[in-house]
Amino acid sequence: VRFADFGLSSDILSALTAQGYVHPTPIQAQAIPVVLQGRDVMGAAQTGTGKTAGFSLPIIQLLLAHANSSMSPARHPVRALILTPTRELAVQVAENVAAYCKFTPLRSCVVFGGMDMKPQTITLRGGVEIVIATPGRLLDHVEQKNISLGQVQMLVMDEADRMLDMGFLPDLQRIINLLPKVRQNLMFSATFSPEIKKLANSFLKEPVLIEV
Ligand code: AMP
Repeated sequence: VRFADFGLSSDILSALTAQGYVHPTPIQAQAIPVVLQGRDVMGAAQTGTGKTAGFSLPIIQLLLAHANSSMSPARHPVRALILTPTRELAVQVAENVAAYCKFTPLRSCVVFGGMDMKPQTITLRGGVEIVIATPGRLLDHVEQKNISLGQVQMLVMDEADRMLDMGFLPDLQRIINLLPKVRQNLMFSATFSPEIKKLANSFLKEPVLIEV
């Protein structure tokens, strides 16, 4: 399998070449076609498997394919939301997403706690299609009306088990309540406790299970 076989846009393929990626990893080979079909996904994958590209690449492709041409170019509503448990993971995911979007018109940004809200606010208010965030800080920005989640089409919960371990369940539920009911949901977790299965059942619709 090659990345070119998935029907990804040439802008994405150029970014992958620039990154030095030649072959998709097993999770990428499984996840990319399923996400492109619009299905929800429950992914059992550890860090280091290439899961970030596994969800990011098809999300970017779907955003490019479903660009709203009637929208004024100055407006960039948030259409994909990627939640992570930690600042470190948020930054890592954001660096990957930025690299994969490099040759596209899509904008992304990362928001996390423990630093001044001002620079994040300026970026969010400028408009971004993809936001990578830790849950608490995202809600702070929602409260301050720096971001609206009313047009989110795709939600990713990365390292969902760690999010539960860190006590983010109430924040996750508040965030989910702010999203449109019709959307695509992707969840990744290294472990599958009863709590994780309960969370998955509560917001994934007929998910495709992907294990590597
Ligand atoms: P992740 O599991 O998403 O954190 O990815 C682990 C590392 O593998 C990251 O540094 C990625 O940039 C890299 N990577 C992801 N997919 C590929 C690929 N298909 N070929 C080579 N490296 C990759």
